[in-house]
Amino acid sequence: MSPAALSIPPRPEGYRGRIAPSPTGFLHVGHARTFWMAWSRARAAGGRVVLRNDDLDRDRVRPEFISGFIEDLKWLGMPWDEGPDIGGPTRPYSQSERMPQYAAALARLREGGWIYPCTCSRREIAASVSAPHAGDEEPIYAGTCRSRRLEDIPWGTRFSWRFRVPDGETVGFVDGGFGPQSPVAGRDFGDFVVWRPDGVPAYQLACVVDDALMGITEVVRGEDLLLSTARQLLLYRALGWSAPAFFHCPLIRDEQGIRLAKRHAALSIRELRARGRTVAEVLGVGGSPGNGFFS
Ligand code: GLU
Ligand code: ZN
Repeated sequence: MSPAALSIPPRPEGYRGRIAPSPTGFLHVGHARTFWMAWSRARAAGGRVVLRNDDLDRDRVRPEFISGFIEDLKWLGMPWDEGPDIGGPTRPYSQSERMPQYAAALARLREGGWIYPCTCSRREIAASVSAPHAGDEEPIYAGTCRSRRLEDIPWGTRFSWRFRVPDGETVGFVDGGFGPQSPVAGRDFGDFVVWRPDGVPAYQLACVVDDALMGITEVVRGEDLLLSTARQLLLYRALGWSAPAFFHCPLIRDEQGIRLAKRHAALSIRELRARGRTVAEVLGVGGSPGNGFFS
């Protein structure tokens, strides 16, 4: 793999933010709120907005969800400066087209001895391609394969690559939204998958490679990704890159205080738009009892 695939652009002058939907469903009010925060922070800083298509989950991605998020973001009034539809200096903007970059990062992690081949836990490995949102944090990995080397794996055996976290180390950072964070590696999160047996990079690795190579200066996303940020900080360090700033947003809860989840699928942006809701109403969802959105 050519090392050129990993050449980091010079640190950008101004703020560069990103909006990174996964085309595995239509956007809902939770996405709208987070993306609005990302978009307005970029604009307030006089910066640029990158739209990234996180389409690595081949089993769940559908083309209508890609055209869907483009249409919904346009309706919401959040124009972007670079993206899969308009191109830009850090193209391509669809993860499925960025395999050389991910493969080069994997090679660098291997050379540095940061990762090991793991033959266990099929289910966890299958899930690793998507970001772990509320309710799908994985259990701490038991470390069964920690001392494995590639030579130990019998020919033909399927394995993933897992990142060895520094047990007991506090991976501290100051979050723009939630303030100082101090998750402990090995206690709050364990060794995590960076590459799946089917040759697909896991969310954690793809996200770091893209945010770094696209010159993102601040990552704005939901609060349920705080622990993913700790994992990603370890990846930045291992890859020798400086990390962006992070700003996590509170998740939208319904009138019972329950997190917006699949049971609220009807709260898709397009459904609300079809029912005549305005952009202001859609962005204002949550936290105000009696707004009728959850009934
Ligand atoms: N595509 C990921 C998601 O929608 C992005 C997560 C992130 O912002 O890092 O969950
Ligand atoms: Zn294992």
